[in-house]
Amino acid sequence: MFDKIPDARITEIRRETAKDTTCQLLIDRIIEGWPQNKNDLKPEVRPYFSIRDTLSFYDSIILKGEAVLIPKAWRGQIKERLHSAHLGFDSMVRRARGTVFWLGMNQEIRQLADNCEHCMERKPKLQKEPLRKHDDGNYPWEKIGLDLFEIQGRNYLLTIDYYSNFIDVDLLTATSSSQVIIKLKKQFAQFGIPRIIISDGGPQFTSDEFSQFTKRWCIQHHVTSPYHPKSNGKAEAGVKIIRGMMVKCLNSRTDQYEALLELRNTPRQDTGLSPAQMMFGRETRSMLPLVQEKSPRNQKRDARKDCIKKSYDRSARIKLKFENSQPVYFRHKPDIPWRKGVVTESTDRNCIVTSTDGVQYKRNSEHIRPTSIPVQIRDKSPERTTVQEQPADTHVKEPDQRRSVPESTCLESATTPVTRPRREVKTPTYLKDYVRF
Ligand SMILES: [Zn+2]
Repeated sequence: MFDKIPDARITEIRRETAKDTTCQLLIDRIIEGWPQNKNDLKPEVRPYFSIRDTLSFYDSIILKGEAVLIPKAWRGQIKERLHSAHLGFDSMVRRARGTVFWLGMNQEIRQLADNCEHCMERKPKLQKEPLRKHDDGNYPWEKIGLDLFEIQGRNYLLTIDYYSNFIDVDLLTATSSSQVIIKLKKQFAQFGIPRIIISDGGPQFTSDEFSQFTKRWCIQHHVTSPYHPKSNGKAEAGVKIIRGMMVKCLNSRTDQYEALLELRNTPRQDTGLSPAQMMFGRETRSMLPLVQEKSPRNQKRDARKDCIKKSYDRSARIKLKFENSQPVYFRHKPDIPWRKGVVTESTDRNCIVTSTDGVQYKRNSEHIRPTSIPVQIRDKSPERTTVQEQPADTHVKEPDQRRSVPESTCLESATTPVTRPRREVKTPTYLKDYVRF
């Protein structure tokens, strides 16, 4: 599970987990089992009794569900990461949920939000995130809002996707149309061309240059009227969030890009998904330790993999149940892939199969398929032939008779010589899936 992330943070957490006495006591309980009575536990692990069913130990890390249990020494750093975007308590808790965990985490996050002077200074502006409206586009990056804003004398272009709330920010060297167009082209090269752009009536958006650009790139451009400034509300709300975040980062001298990354990975209240999840179908790798990708697409893929494995295992089990005298097809050579024979000896995984001309072959059970068609074995001395009937009581699933090929068109029958024309060498249709494995 952790192989995917040869991650210095996971290594550090692993090391701290090994050093932390509470963690060690906890690991003992997870491995050896929990007592019936809470009071039989050492005081350090007693608080974990109620969540014992959710705890597991994997690869030197304690997990609560999918979240990494953070040892005490690392909690400060994690909190710092959680607050890098200076988001409020609710957002931080949503971000932490399913990713990191420790007892009392929520209270500590509350304190963090309340004790950050940069947040307190700007608190009224960050109380509510904009809720999704109905005209938010049907897919990511279909409809985007644009707005310009200024912080400490620098101008920025904000782009916000209506569907996912994914925000991008670009520093502008000038507020001209050509500057804005350059930044937009770069974004469209990354994420594709949106169908609709919403902007206010700023001069950079109403120029001939800009209208030529949107025409050439086949984008509908809606300019909001100055009398209805609310209609550009999406971009304005985005500016509010980003401006707040950037100012706090400047004041606290923390990294704005790190903050933007965390903001994009913070699940939203309305959808329960982060902008990155909605935009890309996955969480992006960030400063918080990520145990595994929690994208819906991946879960689907994993479910599909499980399904394939299950059905593979089912057929694999069938393959293992060979009995002596069982008529079978076995893999022979590339030019004659399947031949008929009879199992004469069967071990755990391998079988000795006697072919119709009496020659014995050792084959992995994977390369043997049962058949209900009786097989005639010709003894090595050409005069004598023995007929092996299929045993009455067999555990092997019988292939569908309707779908199996008639004896005359089967691989090789005892009555015909081995040198028969190749066009008649056919794999029965019910075996066609098997060859792919
Ligand atoms: Zn803050």
